[in-house]
Amino acid sequence: MKIHEYQGKEILRKFGVTVPRGIPCMSVDEAVKAAEELGGPVWVVKAQIHAGGRGKGGGVKVAKSIEQVKEYAEQIMGMQLITHQTGPEGQKVRRLLIEEGADIKKELYVSLVTDRVTQKVVLMASSEGGMDIEEVAHSNPEKIHSIAIDPAVGLTDAEADDISTKIGIPAESLPEARQNLKGLYQAYWDTDSSLAEINPLILTGNGKVIALDAKFNFDANALFRQPEIMAYRDIDEEDPAEVEASKFDLAYISLDGNIGCLVNGAGLAMATMDTIKLFGGEPANFLDVGGGATAEKVTEAFKIMLKNPGLKAILVNIFGGIMRCDVIAEGVITASKAVSLQVPLVVRMKGTNEDLGKKMLADSGLPIIAADTMEDAAKAVVAAAAGNA
Ligand code: GDP
Ligand code: MN
Repeated sequence: MKIHEYQGKEILRKFGVTVPRGIPCMSVDEAVKAAEELGGPVWVVKAQIHAGGRGKGGGVKVAKSIEQVKEYAEQIMGMQLITHQTGPEGQKVRRLLIEEGADIKKELYVSLVTDRVTQKVVLMASSEGGMDIEEVAHSNPEKIHSIAIDPAVGLTDAEADDISTKIGIPAESLPEARQNLKGLYQAYWDTDSSLAEINPLILTGNGKVIALDAKFNFDANALFRQPEIMAYRDIDEEDPAEVEASKFDLAYISLDGNIGCLVNGAGLAMATMDTIKLFGGEPANFLDVGGGATAEKVTEAFKIMLKNPGLKAILVNIFGGIMRCDVIAEGVITASKAVSLQVPLVVRMKGTNEDLGKKMLADSGLPIIAADTMEDAAKAVVAAAAGNA
């Protein structure tokens, strides 16, 4: 799960990381009031969306007067902000963060991620922070330093000072950098984050170290024990199909293709998408209906897939283990009738009560294309999506 920058900064502040004073706003009027409350002479008007690259997309503006704050807030609020992370359609800006301006001497980069190879949280840092960190990682990887943190000990003073020195923080600012890095690590650990990034972390003219940006991702499997994080969820920023799917406990991810996939088990769902691509098709979604795929769940899954105007065909690929094929067949038949299915439907089922399931589909009178192997199924659905059913 992702959150907004201003929420990330609330977390950082709680853990002792220095962040600018700022006020989140839902309207231009609120933005003007916030600027007055903060006091000048410089403010920053920042679009709050769940994507990075806002600066380059015109979503971060430095204002030198209240009038300018108003002007920028009017420009940014409601705009369709396009960044390299939003996709070409962009994301509508519904919230702003008004902050006091900072005196930037140097922009640095720090982040934490969980590294599956070392099974540790890795701290990465660079002297080349700001808006082009991806470019630095690509062309000057030696400018990115990293340490794998021992989970039993946490980030030590020595490690913090070492990496701070490597990214050019002067000796007199080390204690402050240490407090910020240790706070960031504790925030990451205590909130079950999967990513925490401060870009830029700045050094000011008078040697202060401040987090100017905050990006957090959280491990969705740990949210049950993070009610405060869960309360930060902003459904406006999420894909409507994915939000709808989550209500029915369906693991659904929207993709760009035109072939809907309904599969049980995440591994089979991945393999199904791979097979579709192998035969030249493009999946419209990832969908794992899970072990307990009832007729109701299958119907909801169909409804969600069919909301996609670009959908050209659906492939149902089920392994009947605990879930019996006849139950799935019943679900598919009920769902097809309930949504009066207009696109070709290819069904492959294997396993328990396979023959009964297939017979039910054949007897249903629905124009279902039956397939036996993964290859047959993928070829059939790719042909159907291309209009050659
Ligand atoms: P991102 O582009 O989505 O990562 O948004 P950031 O919050 O990182 O802002 C982008 C850039 O705006 C930063 O790299 C800074 O150069 C600039 N910026 C942000 N806050 C301030 C500020 O208080 N003063 C000044 N002068 N620039 C700022
Ligand atoms: Mn940034």
